[in-house]
Amino acid sequence: MEIVEHRQVMILGGGPAGFTAALYTARADLKPLLVTGMTLYGQASQTHCIENYPGFPEGVGGNDFGQRLDEQAKRFGAEVIYDIVQCVDLQQRPFKVCLGSGTYTADSLVLSMGADTRKLGVPGEREFTGRGVSYCATCDGAFYKEKDIHIVGGGDSALEEALFLTRYARSITIIHRRDQLRAGAILENRARNNPKIHFLWDTVVKEVIGGETATHLRIENLKTGMQETIPTDGLFVLIGHIPNTSLLQGQLKLTEHGTIEIDEHMETSVKGVFAAGEIADPLYRQVVTSAGMGAAAAISVTRFLATA
Ligand SMILES: Cc1cc2nc3c(=O)[nH]c(=O)nc-3n(C[C@H](O)[C@H](O)[C@H](O)COP(=O)(O)OP(=O)(O)OC[C@H]3O[C@@H](n4cnc5c(N)ncnc54)[C@H](O)[C@@H]3O)c2cc1C
Repeated sequence: MEIVEHRQVMILGGGPAGFTAALYTARADLKPLLVTGMTLYGQASQTHCIENYPGFPEGVGGNDFGQRLDEQAKRFGAEVIYDIVQCVDLQQRPFKVCLGSGTYTADSLVLSMGADTRKLGVPGEREFTGRGVSYCATCDGAFYKEKDIHIVGGGDSALEEALFLTRYARSITIIHRRDQLRAGAILENRARNNPKIHFLWDTVVKEVIGGETATHLRIENLKTGMQETIPTDGLFVLIGHIPNTSLLQGQLKLTEHGTIEIDEHMETSVKGVFAAGEIADPLYRQVVTSAGMGAAAAISVTRFLATA
């Protein structure tokens, strides 16, 4: 592997966590190199309005927000490369990172490749994402005041989010492919006893249908094979997250959730390698928390490089 360049710090992943780490390490004069990956500005870049990031009382478009992060990090000297990390070697320092455009070495890394939300993979899902199809109750619940919405999912987090959505929605129907849930008993009881929550058992969503926004779901009962089209004001797909750790398998410790294990300094099980955002966060999964983790990781990198 011919090395094209050495850096003090490289940041892998260009979502809110990565760009915030780039901003902080740039301001610490470490001349970071950030690799964006395919989804420029991360998961929320496609959402038309982020309403819960502090400092934007009117909300901010996801892509607009990403561009602002990009501009701010570059203003202080961060370099951004629009490429994909293809391999990472954490065996020894300096660490090796190979991209389509060449191989780099770095004294420290911030891993911020985020996570992907699990998709249903049905027609209409992609088309109506952000227009009636959502993957995050905390982010989008407030858009569904007094609406009749549907949820796909039957695990703990789906039920927690369903209970959260009862603050807004008029009714919530949980569509579940089996005839029993995978969630813990306490959560299940709370959901079953909530008058706003209903269940459609043994049922899957086959298609999301609509015009400007999603208006109907085509569903199928798996026991009878019967299909029908039902009206909806919105569909929340709450079937889990997949942290983007495939390049790192066997190289550092992961948690039971598949996220990267980090300590209170955001450091991974490999000294000099830090992680931030959803790749290391099974719990909060927000733009603001990911950005906060990016800032913390960058401060730790700065301290690490000062003493390494
Ligand atoms: C549709 C949608 C709407 C949302 N709306 C909101 C909202 O309104 N408010 C809110 O707080 N949260 C929202 N969220 C959640 C929020 O987007 C995430 O919590 C946040 O983006 C996580 O930031 P991150 O930087 O950790 O990772 P991500 O945003 O997942 O970014 C990861 C980055 O890593 C890059 N990457 C991945 N693999 C590689 C690779 N091999 N090489 C290089 N780069 C790579 C990707 O291209 C991407 O740029 C929303 C999520 C979705 C899906």
